[in-house]
Formats: sequence, structure tokens, C-alpha cells
Amino acid sequence: MSESVDVLIVGAGFAGLRALYTLREQGLRATVLEASADVGGVWYHNQYPGARCDVESYDYSYSFSPALEQEWCWTERYATQPEILKYINHVAERFDLRRDIRFNTRMASATYDADRARWHVVAADGREWHAQYLIMAVGQLSSPKPTTYPGQDQFAGRIIYSAQWPHEHIDFTGKSVAIIGTGSSGVQMTPVIARQARRLTVFQRTANYSIPAANAPVTQDEDRTVKSNYAERRQRARNSPSGLGFVPNSQSALDVPEDDRVRTFEAAWNRLGFGFALAYKDILLNQESNDTAVAFIHAKIAELVPDPVLREKLTPQGFPFASRRPSVDSGFYQTFSRDNVELVDIRATPIEAITPDAIRTSAKDYPVDILIYATGFDAFTGSLLKPQITGRDGTTLQASWSAGPRTYLGLGVAQFPNLFIICGPGSPSLLSNVLLSTEEQVDWLASLISHCAQNGLNEIEVTDAAQADWVVHVNERSLETLYPKAQSYYMGAEMPGKPQVFMPYSGGVRGYRRILQDVAKRDYAGFVLREV
Ligand code: NAP
Repeated sequence: MSESVDVLIVGAGFAGLRALYTLREQGLRATVLEASADVGGVWYHNQYPGARCDVESYDYSYSFSPALEQEWCWTERYATQPEILKYINHVAERFDLRRDIRFNTRMASATYDADRARWHVVAADGREWHAQYLIMAVGQLSSPKPTTYPGQDQFAGRIIYSAQWPHEHIDFTGKSVAIIGTGSSGVQMTPVIARQARRLTVFQRTANYSIPAANAPVTQDEDRTVKSNYAERRQRARNSPSGLGFVPNSQSALDVPEDDRVRTFEAAWNRLGFGFALAYKDILLNQESNDTAVAFIHAKIAELVPDPVLREKLTPQGFPFASRRPSVDSGFYQTFSRDNVELVDIRATPIEAITPDAIRTSAKDYPVDILIYATGFDAFTGSLLKPQITGRDGTTLQASWSAGPRTYLGLGVAQFPNLFIICGPGSPSLLSNVLLSTEEQVDWLASLISHCAQNGLNEIEVTDAAQADWVVHVNERSLETLYPKAQSYYMGAEMPGKPQVFMPYSGGVRGYRRILQDVAKRDYAGFVLREV
């Protein structure tokens, strides 16, 4: 027995919930399939200590409902994971979204029926759906990277993945804890776990740039100010390069005297967190400008890490600042001055094995009770390529993307009619405030679907030519930036064997929105809209 709907949405994180709300408001019958037991996506799974957002709460929240904006009160400038999950649950309740979500339901396959212009979707437990449109809202960082150290199966202690954190209290008191990985997750959890554990050993492969979060409680005055100008703030974010709610600097770092530059960097360091990368307009575009930011940050790390050997290990080298995503931290560097914390450079002394009670490097064994993998994700494509998605003429997404993901606008894929991806590869996604990008794409997609319904059309298909041009454009824009100078998950470098292509769109939130508007104005150029 299969269920028939207008739209099937996969994923009940921020993107899936927004798509459900909007398409349902449009009068469509929409159902969400969610593999987990509840809403929240990445915020449901990444419950590790210290997890919080690196975009300001007021910007990392839905904009579709002014009433919601006014009634919700964020308590901190950068919300913690529990507060964000509470917010997502509030949204699900307030807009009665749960009744259309099938939890504990993992999509196993989707096959396009070209004669009927409908998708046939089968879940892992065999349940089936037929839908005109299939929307993948599965996130960009939702497929944890598998780890394969020899001996791992014999480890007698507990192994925990940051991206699949158990939904229970983990007590680190009196324990020897190891964290492998110093990306945002490792950087955020390190200070918190260090305060609880008897010993903490952090295994670092690549030193990562990190900017202080400058987190603070939200005062009633701030709350009133933001809420009285919320529409203006949203507008500013939409017209910014990254979708953040502050006015970015329009000067080059090279156009100002050094004293001024240092003052600007100092102010950004103390206030902007992730936005430090926008302290000048060309930090991510010009190597010389970037070098000025690097020099400033290196000096800051030197202040924060008095020990010269430790400082050397913790100072990022060999790639431009922000060409790999910088972390935003609350006391990361300072934590290594604690007596119970040790940093191990695993490039110098690689991990050779996990023994039943220790991590063995080429230099020595480090006894461990709890081992935490903060080793990241199969980014951008991991969750899209897990299910078997078969489009026109038996073409699978895996085959179609064997040399790297190819999309039009990051939204649609040639040979896969009526399939859409929210914040897919080729869209600003992780180079932007991803929630803002999500909402923009959902609204645009909803207009496209509505346009087709009004005109009696039921099939939307990306042309090969439009997709080929977009892939070239995405690549060309990336070459105007410093991103390709680093080995990062933006480039597909995080997984051995993954095709190395630039994954997100670096043309900025405003530029991307203008392109979307232009495509719509030109009768959805690049898509063929037809009646089947
Ligand atoms: P990540 O940035 O990919 O970092 C993974 C870390 O694990 C890196 O230090 C990496 O080293 C190391 N690693 C990977 N495989 C390893 C291996 N086999 N052996 C040893 N080390 C290994 O992952 P993440 O920290 O989970 O963060 C991913 C992204 O999620 C962030 O960039 C951000 O976009 C998002 N996030 C955001 C927040 C937030 O503040 N809102 C918090 C957490 C995550 P190499 O660098 O050498 O590969």
C-alpha cells in the first residue's frame, strides 16, 4: 500500500520543516520522511558538550513569520545546541508540522516514473510513497565520516562520534578522554570537556584557525532593538555576501594604513566571530590581504598560548585564513595551558592503532576511557548519495556525479526531473548563513511549483546545457577566491577518493539571489517545464 502526495520532502531539519510549512501553505499535500526519531537534523544529532551556532541567533532563525520572530526570545548571542533544538521543536509545534512527518523512516530509494512524471520512493522498512515532487532537504554536514583505525573494534572503553552524540548525559568526571579532530566540533567541545575530565588528550592533524565567539547573554534592550527593526536586519542580511546581519566592510585590507587595519581587526576579533573573515572585503579574494589577517591572528595565538612548542603546534600554517572553515570558540587556545590537557600532533607522530585501553601513536600510548571522534562529515554529497536515486532512463545520481556533483543553481539536476535539493552543491549553502539560503531557495522553489500548477505543467527538468554552464560558472567564481588554495571539505578533500571539485557557490548570497530572480523572470530559463 503506498501513500500518494504532491511533495515528498526528505529530512526534518531546518530546511525540511521550512519546505513543509511553505508548500502546505500553498495548498499542496506534503509529507516529510525523517530517519531520526524527532525533528532537528544536525541539531538533533550534534548534541556534544559546547555545541553552539557560529551565526548570531537573530540571523540563524526563520524569517517567514513575523509573529514567530517577535515571540521567540534568544538568551545568548550565539545559541547553544539545546536552545536551537528547543526553537526547532517550538516551530514544529506552533505550525503543527509533526502530523505530516514520518519519523524513524529512512529513504532507501527513489525512482522516477517518466510516464507519470512522479517519483516512487521506498523506505528502508519497505513503505512506499508516490509523489510529483521530491525535495532532498538532507543537509550538507549530516553524513558522519567513518573512521577506520586498526584495533578500533577491540577498544574496551566508549567510542562516541560528535555527529551522533548519544541522547544521554555523558559524565567525564575522573575519566581519561581523547578527542580526535580539531575542526569546529573538536574546538567547541575541548574547553568544556577539559573542565570535567581527569585528563584530556586532543589529537590534531591540521591546526585550524579559530576566532573567539564573543558570546554574551542577550539583554532585554538588545532584544527590543533587534525586534523593532527585524525586517531591516533581514534585508541587510539578504543583501550581504554571506547572509549575516551586520554591514560588511567595503574596503580592501590593503587600502588602509597598518594602524587602522590592526584596529579594525581588533574590533572584529572581539565582536564578529565567524564574521572576522569579512573584516575587509578582500580577505578571501586576495592573498596579500589574507596575509594581513593571518599575521594578526598568529599574533593573537601567540598571546593566548605562552608555551612556544605548543604555540607552534596550534598555529595554522600553509593555507589562507578562512579557505578552510574557521572555528568560533570559547577558550580553545587557552585550554591547552591547563595541567590536565595535552595536544598531540598526529602529523608528527601519527596514530598507528587503537589498543583496548589506549591510542597508540608512533611515539607512545595514550591511555583512554572515552574516545571521541570529532572527525567531521562526508560533506555536501554524503547524504545525497546514500539512497539509490534513479532518474530518467535508469540514470543514477551516483553515476551522474561520479566525477563530482553537477547541478543547476544547486537546486536541480539534469536527468532527474521534479527532484530538488535544498542548499545542494553549487549553491551558497555552507559559504553563507545556511538558514537564510535555505529559506530563499524554498521560497523560490515554491514559486516555481506554483507557476507550473497555474499553467497545467507537471514536469520540471534541468537542461544539460544549463547545468554545464552552471558548473563552469561555479568553478570560475571559486577561482576568483582563495578557497581552492586549501585542502578542505569545500573541495571534496575530506574523504579519501572523493572527486576534488569546488562544492559550494562562492558568488555570495546577494549575487545568487539575483541569479535566481533573473532565471524566474526569464520564464525559468534552464528548466524545461512541460505537461506529461
Ligand atoms: P571538520 O571541520 O571536517 O573537522 C574534522 C577534524 O577531524 C579535522 O581537524 C580533521 O583533520 C580531523 N580528522 C578527520 N579525519 C581524521 C582522521 N582520520 N584522523 C585524524 N583526524 C582526522 O568537522 P567538524 O569539526 O565536525 O565541523 C564540520 C563543519 O560543521 C564545520 O566546518 C561547520 O561548518 C559545522 N559546524 C559548525 C559548528 C558551529 O559552530 N556552528 C560547530 C560544529 C560544526 P584535517 O583538517 O587534517 O582533515
